[in-house]
Amino acid sequence: MSGRYPRKPFEGSPLVSPLQQSVVYTAESPSALDAIYAQNSGFTYSREGHPNAVTTAAMIDALEGASGGVMAGSGMGAVSLAVLCAVSAGDHILGSTQLYGRSLRLLSEEMPRLGVSSDFFDPTDAAAAEAALKPNTKAMLVEVVANPTLRIADMEGLAELCAARGITLILDNTFTTPLGFRAFERGVDIVLHSVTKFLAGHSDAMLGWVAAKDEAMRDRLTVLSHTWGMTAAPFDCWLAERGLLSFQLRYERAQANAAALADALADMPGIARVVYPGRKDHPEADRAKTLLGENFGAMVSFELEGGRAAADAFALAKTIPLAPTLGDITTTVSHPVTSSHRNVAPETLASLGINEGFFRVSVGVEAADDIIAAFAAATDRARRA
Ligand code: PLP
Repeated sequence: MSGRYPRKPFEGSPLVSPLQQSVVYTAESPSALDAIYAQNSGFTYSREGHPNAVTTAAMIDALEGASGGVMAGSGMGAVSLAVLCAVSAGDHILGSTQLYGRSLRLLSEEMPRLGVSSDFFDPTDAAAAEAALKPNTKAMLVEVVANPTLRIADMEGLAELCAARGITLILDNTFTTPLGFRAFERGVDIVLHSVTKFLAGHSDAMLGWVAAKDEAMRDRLTVLSHTWGMTAAPFDCWLAERGLLSFQLRYERAQANAAALADALADMPGIARVVYPGRKDHPEADRAKTLLGENFGAMVSFELEGGRAAADAFALAKTIPLAPTLGDITTTVSHPVTSSHRNVAPETLASLGINEGFFRVSVGVEAADDIIAAFAAATDRARRA
C-alpha cells in the first residue's frame, strides 16, 4: 500500500507526479473533442476532471477497495454528494445523532429546504434506527466511531436493516479510515472521507472523496460533482497524493501512540475518565473489536476534573496545540463545547457526557513518551488552576 501504486512508470517518466494546474485542456480537432466527451476519456475542463484528481482518487480507491471514486473540494463536499446521490424531493433520510456537526446541519437544515425530511437515531442501537424508519426512508448516514464520544455504531445491525428495506447506507469513514473499516465488505453502499484528515494527513489540503458500490450511483456521483461544482483543486490533490504515500505508516504509528496515551491518561491524577475504543472499559469494547479488529483508531477522548477553568489551564500550558481538526501528523486537542458542539443544546451535551472538561485528542506520530509527557505537564497545570 505504500509506494506510488496507481501509476505505471516508464523510462524517463518523473517519479513524482507532476502538478497540473491548468483549468483547461486543448483538443486536436472537433472530432477528437467529441470522442473525449463521448467516451469520458481524457481531460477538457478541470471542474470535470484533471490528472491530479485521477491519481489521488485511484490511490484512495485502492485503499477502500472501490473504483471510480470522486474527489470533492472538502469532506463536506463528499458528504453532500453522497446525500444528493441517494435522495430526491419527497424522500426521508435518517442520520446518526452523533454525526460531524456540519453533516447534522446538512440533514436537519439544508435537506428539508429541498423537500427531503430527516430524523436522527442513536447509532449504537439498530433497533432505534428501525423505530425511526418511515415508508419513504431512502438513505441513512452514519459514522462507525462517533465524534467526540467515540461510541461505536451497530454497523452489522444497520447494514442488515438497510439491505432488508432497500435503504442506501452511507458511511463517513473519516475517523476509522480504510485500514480500520472496509466499508464495502460490510454492507455499505456509499463510502466517503474527509481526505483533509488522516488520508492527506498534514493539515494543508482541503479535500473529500466519495465512492459508490453500484455503477449507476457511481455515474451519478460524477455528474453531481461536475454540475454542483464540488470538484477538488489540483494543488490540494497533489499534496494529498504525497500524504497518502505515508498514510499507512502514519496511521499505524498514531494508533499505537493513541493506545499508549489512553492508558497513561487513565492513570493520571486530575483525569475523570478516558474513552478509547481499544480499552476494556469502553461501552462497546466487544463491538469495537468485531468491527475494527486491532485498528482502534488514533482518537482518544478524556474528561478533566475542574470544568472550564481546568480546561483553559490545560490549553494554556501550550504543550499540545488546541485546534478544531484531526488527522494531522502532530498530536492536537479539541474542546467540543467551545468548537464543534457549541450550538448543541445543553441537555443533549449532558446526555452525551460532553462537558466543560471534555477534550478530544487526535494522536500524531511523535514519540509516545513525548506525547505522554506533554499531557502530564498540561494536566498538572490544570490541577493547579
Ligand atoms: N466528516 C467528519 C467525520 C469530520 O470530522 C469532518 C471535519 O472535521 C468532515 C466530515 C468535514 O470535512 P472537511 O472539513 O474536509 O469538509
